Amino acid sequence: MRTALISDIHSNLSALEAVLAEIDKHSCQRILCLGDIIGYGPNPVQCADAVAERCEWSLLGNHDFGVLYEPTNFNTIAEQAAYWTREQFERDSRENPDSARKRWNFLGLLPVRKREGDYLFVHGTPRKPINEYLFPEDAINSPAKLAGIFDRIDRVCFVGHTHVQGVFTDDSEFWKPDELTDHSYPIDPQTKAIVNPGSVGQPRDGDPRAAFAILDTSGGDGKHRVEFHRVEYDIEDTIRRIHSIDRLNDFLGDRLREAR
Ligand code: ZN
Repeated sequence: MRTALISDIHSNLSALEAVLAEIDKHSCQRILCLGDIIGYGPNPVQCADAVAERCEWSLLGNHDFGVLYEPTNFNTIAEQAAYWTREQFERDSRENPDSARKRWNFLGLLPVRKREGDYLFVHGTPRKPINEYLFPEDAINSPAKLAGIFDRIDRVCFVGHTHVQGVFTDDSEFWKPDELTDHSYPIDPQTKAIVNPGSVGQPRDGDPRAAFAILDTSGGDGKHRVEFHRVEYDIEDTIRRIHSIDRLNDFLGDRLREAR
């Protein structure tokens, strides 16, 4: 089976549509979402509906939690964006109560973790599934942190949250897709790995293109691998939409160009 993995869409509809169209060209049987569907960007309602329609399931990210429940530990810009996002859902509830009810049910039941065999899926880390960040620098600076996280993993864990695409291995290495042959990571049964498909709607790894990954478990030899993908989208369109909304800080648009 070929499974597309998306994460950290952050209400960026242009990026999400470009990624979904690209996934359609790669013979995937299903799409999974690792959370942060909403928060920061200009099109939360449409993004939530597209994920509900196209994904087999989605996890709950810290920004989904912040919008749906309470924006805890957010900076002012993120908190303002969370309250604005919440209001978009509430306004649509008044205007279109039937479709909104379906949407609230989808959002209200987002799980914090999923397991399929010895593959685990969380937004942050297995220790703190919503909130803990695992950064590439941690592989060098915090080997004890990485080891503690790997203790909770049987084989492979898929995470989002940092918006940085790549693979951690349990010998404390981090591999960027550019460092892998064909941007592809062969999953070794002897080595544990943590895989981040990158961010659809707000990449922070210096490459402004939308990111996603494909988990391919269809090899006849029983070998699984992860392919990393990037896709161009209309960044300026998203920036314009953000700039046109007073309560979304212009920075949330401008940062998309820099991918920081
Ligand atoms: Zn995020």
